[in-house]
Amino acid sequence: MPLPLFPVSVVGSWPRTPELLSVLRQKRRGGISQDEFDGVADAAVLEALRLQTAAGVDVVTDGEQRRDNFYSFVAEKLSGVRLMSLSEMLDVVEDRAGFEDILETLGVPAYAILNPTCIGRLERKGPLAVDEARFLREHTDKPIKVALPGPYLLTRAMFVPGVSKPAYDSKEELAEDVVAVLRAEVEELASEGVDFVQLDEPVLTELVFSRGKTRTFMCAALASRGDPTEELEFAVSLINRVVDGVSGVRTGLHVCRGNWSRNEATLLRGSYQPLAPYLARLCVDQLVLEYATERAGVLMAFEGKEIGLGVVNPRTESIESSEHISKAVSRALELYPSEKVWLNPDCGFGTFSARPVNTAETAVKKLAMMAEAAQMVREAAAT
Ligand SMILES: [Zn+2]
Repeated sequence: MPLPLFPVSVVGSWPRTPELLSVLRQKRRGGISQDEFDGVADAAVLEALRLQTAAGVDVVTDGEQRRDNFYSFVAEKLSGVRLMSLSEMLDVVEDRAGFEDILETLGVPAYAILNPTCIGRLERKGPLAVDEARFLREHTDKPIKVALPGPYLLTRAMFVPGVSKPAYDSKEELAEDVVAVLRAEVEELASEGVDFVQLDEPVLTELVFSRGKTRTFMCAALASRGDPTEELEFAVSLINRVVDGVSGVRTGLHVCRGNWSRNEATLLRGSYQPLAPYLARLCVDQLVLEYATERAGVLMAFEGKEIGLGVVNPRTESIESSEHISKAVSRALELYPSEKVWLNPDCGFGTFSARPVNTAETAVKKLAMMAEAAQMVREAAAT
């Protein structure tokens, strides 16, 4: 589908309404039929789509409205995976004291409450996101983006030796099946007319920016984190095996430093410098990166890649002006050709269902400013 210069897009998630949160909870408890759930979720997706469209977003998502969060949702779509509560996790992690430490430090982040844990051989019971994409495709003519959890994130989250070992000897062995599942999904999404598939790998920043012993994203993977260099090599090989050679769809990778709190001090900090040699080797078309926060450091050039430039902070109430945003884009044009620059918020507006970082109202205002800024830079580029 043809795109304007400086396309405006989103990272993925949209704040969920109280009604949707209620049916998500009921669904977890098994207290609602699929039809009842779909009725509410379909309406929520259409509203998220309507708001993005009205704000002027060029490449839209379904707001991840059907998902509890950006990665745990795979548990119900795969056999061999079970959502485990915090107390269940405490019983099976190897470093219990370290795990408890983290929970205390972070004030128990909501997303840690349920972890998709591998308890048997992995198998795709059905699509992970093809059903979501199909619904969105039927309801808009705009190009669509679908986000999937990346293979490294999924492997790290799922592999808990105490319960995963009977099925898989090592996280490397589990990763083989994770890669196969994701690659099949990306290929199906491409054939369903999805324009952009984005893999989310926020845990990459945790490898290079964690302070001391605190591990922020993946409580489950306490025991599985090795030497950062080895882990990054492992991540690159998994991601490339998911996307390399896939055709008919734009691929991207999203990395950020956490999106669970409005308190910037609890989120990770550091430039992309230590990740750069690895990001540069990924076979993706676009890097979707945080840059609206000063925690992300200076803008870096990634030769040959598109940049999904983070231009607004999804966690603040104040609305960045179109002048402010267009200046950020102009600075990016010193490093990237104009056809390779996209405008994004730094992350989703509702990454964890029960803890959205913003309201839909503020999200719409931020996106509308991005669309206005995109128009300004398009006009400047045309003269
Ligand atoms: Zn993010």
